[in-house]
Amino acid sequence: MSCEFPAATIIGYPRIGPRRELKKALESYWAGTSTAAELESTTRQLRLDGYTRLAELGLGENTSAIPASFSLYDQVLDTAVTFGAVPARFQDLYDDDGQLSLDAYFTLARGDSLRQPLEMTKWFDTNYHYLVPEIDQATEFTLANDSTLRRVIEAAEVGLTIRPTLIGPVTFLLLSKAAAGSPAGFNPLSRLDDLLPLYAQFLGQLATAGAQWVQLEEPALVADQAVPEEELAAAVDRAYRFLTAATARPAVLVTTQYGSLGRLLPVLGATAIDALHLDVFKGELPDSEDLVALGDTTLVAGVVDGHNIWKADLVVAAGTLTALGGSAPRLSVATSTSLQHVPHDVEDEPQLDPELRSWLAFADQKVAEVLTLSRLVDGSPSGSIDEAIAEASAILAARAAASGVNRPEVRERLRALTPSDFGRISYQERAAAQKTALQLPLLPTTTIGSFPQTADVRSTRARFHRGNLAAEQYTRLMREEIKRVIALQEDLGFDVLVHGEPERNDMVQYFAENLDGFDVTVNGWVQSYGSRCTRPSILWGDVSRPQPITVQWSKYAQSLTEKPVKGMLTGPVTILAWSFVREDQPLGETANQVALALRDEVSDLERAGIRVIQVDEPALRELLPLRNGLQRDYLTWSVSSFRLATSGAAPSTQIHTHLCYSEFGAIIEAIDGLDADVTSIEAARSRMEVVHDLQEQGFARGVGPGVYDIHSPRVPDENEVAELVQKAIRHVPARQLWVNPDCGLKTRGYTETVESLRNLVNAAARVRADLDTPVS
Ligand code: GLN
Ligand code: ZN
Repeated sequence: MSCEFPAATIIGYPRIGPRRELKKALESYWAGTSTAAELESTTRQLRLDGYTRLAELGLGENTSAIPASFSLYDQVLDTAVTFGAVPARFQDLYDDDGQLSLDAYFTLARGDSLRQPLEMTKWFDTNYHYLVPEIDQATEFTLANDSTLRRVIEAAEVGLTIRPTLIGPVTFLLLSKAAAGSPAGFNPLSRLDDLLPLYAQFLGQLATAGAQWVQLEEPALVADQAVPEEELAAAVDRAYRFLTAATARPAVLVTTQYGSLGRLLPVLGATAIDALHLDVFKGELPDSEDLVALGDTTLVAGVVDGHNIWKADLVVAAGTLTALGGSAPRLSVATSTSLQHVPHDVEDEPQLDPELRSWLAFADQKVAEVLTLSRLVDGSPSGSIDEAIAEASAILAARAAASGVNRPEVRERLRALTPSDFGRISYQERAAAQKTALQLPLLPTTTIGSFPQTADVRSTRARFHRGNLAAEQYTRLMREEIKRVIALQEDLGFDVLVHGEPERNDMVQYFAENLDGFDVTVNGWVQSYGSRCTRPSILWGDVSRPQPITVQWSKYAQSLTEKPVKGMLTGPVTILAWSFVREDQPLGETANQVALALRDEVSDLERAGIRVIQVDEPALRELLPLRNGLQRDYLTWSVSSFRLATSGAAPSTQIHTHLCYSEFGAIIEAIDGLDADVTSIEAARSRMEVVHDLQEQGFARGVGPGVYDIHSPRVPDENEVAELVQKAIRHVPARQLWVNPDCGLKTRGYTETVESLRNLVNAAARVRADLDTPVS
């Protein structure tokens, strides 16, 4: 393939649209208020606008520098439908021509009354979630959807050459799971040789449609996998020898974002792929022999961070490029990952402090950075980027010196910490003190924190934030809501109550808005999955708490009842995971700053008479590094920050935590390390599988495996809940068990929630009555 790779590119562009156009188009189609033709025309425009924007920013129109990274829902699903990798329960969705239509595509993503959708799970160490293909021995690969192909044609019609993208075959199979009913030990990767001919055929079609380059994404190669390394290397070698052997194909770019390729680099380098992208921002610099061995293969150096929003340090990036250029015969410049993880444009945030704004690079600014750096490799006169480098360095220096970035009082407090600030007295002593203080029955019942957010609650909050509602009015309305939620829980018979979190839109943004060192955006939406977006806060400075945050609400709620009301805080790791976090100091240090602010909040809650405090850490597992060797260090600092936040509590104060997943495997020790008195976890969907792990680990503290799946509107009946509780008791002593839903109730409606909670409380009472052992 003679076609040269462009000197500058990005690996992917945000697809939700600058004003969430995709979200709106999808949701109106799903709601039946727009037609398939309308959806197609809105999204076509969105794609073309994106290409035009990138061309204007300088990527050029006919260079294949523009990736066609758009997806209607998810890029893994796109690849699954392209190759007909669809589980048996969806087989009837094929039309007479053996194709999967638009509606079939959405059924896979969202399910219907008859079928469970594909499972959704986290995409590497990001906040994005992809759909997990299900593959078995019988999966019949066919070319079943031509959307990717049509996008090449659609762009060509307006005179643009774009670079189609697909998940590469090895990553595709590694991300898939064995379909239900597969024989034990079946590994989807064993189907590689059946899948490759379809990839080859499809590459042929792309070439015919005019694609000069195709991007095959292989990020799974940067993560440690269960497959033995030799087997993985053999698969990579086979796949890319096979795909490059075809004569009628576009040139092949393989991308390996989110970390180092490690020992698979020479394996890929030895195949005839035309370009190889390496994440050299997050990953390590490769060995020079491996680079020399690339020969004619262009090295596409991902030097500009695609996953965070800070302006690049051009000195460091230029140094990396110079080092690589010394060994790699052909070099291009790119982002480290797709820009799907960052918002579109800093210019859309005029309300941000100009100083803070000057430190930021969203997607469009990153394109400019890549273009600037490409002048180092495209034969431009040396010295042509010196000015840009000097400017970037001046901004970085100003940022380092800005007030708020480095606050002596915060740093002094961190420096003065001693090991005793990270631990409480023994669990036995605490449990005794809490028993006296709280007087809870066996199998105490509670919820995870939020109650359904009615339209009223949302609009009250929105009016207040827009300045259309006076503070006293707002407080009065929120108190009314809290009063209602407390009365409801009293009525249902809960043992530990919550205030319901009506004042919070997003559990991280709420704290970001109330802590120093953070800012929030207005249009900074990032896709989480499908049509769902989040707006991560920006953690840019040293963190401190100007005043108590949650105390007034919790204190009011507690004044309404004799039962204990749980204070409700978001933990340091989750606050970091769901924000854009400063990268100029170790994450552990930033986490400890957040932890100290929370520690003060814990002590103010105690002073206000709160006896139970929950610190949510649903994202603890999310930040777990992809390479096993890096995990220990992460778990050490993340667990420490939780302990720092909570260990100031008196022995009689019961500390709860909540985790949003049930795969405990890798981190059960860390969860034990949190040393919370009570841990609630997701479990209903997996029918309590997690209790086996708890038993095996000898988990000795309080635990509430969720018995009601709040991710669906379905109401579990009393028997079903009672059975789940009984099942848990067979593995974990009853005196340790709590009865609670899986997660917060924020997204549920009231009707189903009240019914479900009533069944939950009644089931707990019934099982309690059945246990003849009196509480000892
Ligand atoms: N306390 C939070 C709530 O109930 C927890 C949410 C979460 O785990 N994501 O909404
Ligand atoms: Zn949860």
